[in-house]
Amino acid sequence: MTPAEIEGAVEAGMPQAIEDLTKLVSIPSVAFPGHPEAPVHEAAAAVADLLRSVGLPHVELIPVEGSFPAVYATAPAPPGAPTVLLYAHYDVQPSGDVALWRTPPFEPTVIGDAMYGRGAADDKGGLIAHIAALRVFQGDFPVGLKVIVEGQEEYAGERLESLVEARPELVHADAMVIGDVGNPKVGDPALTTMLRGMAAFTVEVRSLGDAVHSGSFGGAAPDALSALMRMLTAMHDDNGDVRVPGLERGVFPGESSSEKEFRATAGVLDGVSLVGSGSIADRVWASYAITVTGLDVPSVSGAINAVQAVARARVTIRIPPSGDAATALKTVSAFLAENAPWGVQVSFDDTVTGSGFRASEGGPARAAIEKAMEHAFGRAPREVGQGGSIPLVAKLATLHPQAEILLYGVEDEDASIHAPNERVILGELRRIITAEALFLSTYTHP
Ligand SMILES: [Zn+2]
Repeated sequence: MTPAEIEGAVEAGMPQAIEDLTKLVSIPSVAFPGHPEAPVHEAAAAVADLLRSVGLPHVELIPVEGSFPAVYATAPAPPGAPTVLLYAHYDVQPSGDVALWRTPPFEPTVIGDAMYGRGAADDKGGLIAHIAALRVFQGDFPVGLKVIVEGQEEYAGERLESLVEARPELVHADAMVIGDVGNPKVGDPALTTMLRGMAAFTVEVRSLGDAVHSGSFGGAAPDALSALMRMLTAMHDDNGDVRVPGLERGVFPGESSSEKEFRATAGVLDGVSLVGSGSIADRVWASYAITVTGLDVPSVSGAINAVQAVARARVTIRIPPSGDAATALKTVSAFLAENAPWGVQVSFDDTVTGSGFRASEGGPARAAIEKAMEHAFGRAPREVGQGGSIPLVAKLATLHPQAEILLYGVEDEDASIHAPNERVILGELRRIITAEALFLSTYTHP
């Protein structure tokens, strides 16, 4: 098909794409504990129907241990053509406080060029982009295809990682498209080429057999909470830069958003300064970040006058692609232990690690998607990073190091994913569908 024919087919297919998206967003497929499971299974069945409807000859639900099924589909490669893996997920974040939504989260509502609803962007929009791009070819696909649609990404993505680790052939492909990210701004095409990894742990400090009266003992009894606070504050300097030796600052090779834009998106209050140094992209995509995400301490209401015997904190480390998650975890825990005052007892527990990702450059898939995006958006895509982690991507890269992994999608910074009033811009959805269909039709082995 010529680019013009593809664009025409995408345009003609938009009502169908919007109808499919509406149907999916109406299903509250929240795969978190405590939410009904039936809608998640209903969404899996709906995805399988959609994959069949675009002419994929083989569609199945693959059980995932301890989780919801992955929907999987394949089409054989025409002779000499490469195989492309398409990834998305059909589960969504919980709606959160429904009162904060202007439209009901599971009643997709189109206002202007936006469709509002939980999952409209993350990631049912990404999923529909794959479906609509495939529909363009009416079953006569230019490449081999493997499609995997995950059912519990938002809660327990590691379970799909175990599946692909046990059955790596499921995801063996020349190029992999992770349709679960997006462009910084609508109409501003981007390929995500760097993802940070992450590590997290719980640190516990013990100083006394039991809490003791702050009047009788305060002033001499070592306070576990105070010891923990000293350890935690030691991790950053006065400017907010990480000061743990070995965790050096990185530099992002592409453009960065401005501090002004970042302040607005992050909702930083007037008079409050940002932390860290380097460009915003350096700080949130290419450097380590350490955040205390939880504390086990007595709550203010009902606090009694006591010196605390024990205190705990949850610490999350974001790791640039050049770093190693296990090493960072060791480095930070050793630093905390070294900075523990008064010989208090320090222990670590509940650790998790996931690697980051750095895309390889210059392969045929990368070249094809860059041209396809330029055609669809009228401007060449730029490289962006993502401060969050997608552990599956690192797993895919490890299992199939020869594969080119491409990350793009329908989300943008104002899409409110994981927040109230999530939305996808339908024009952006159309441009991504066009880019993906063009990519599939032009991508060949070198
Ligand atoms: Zn997602």
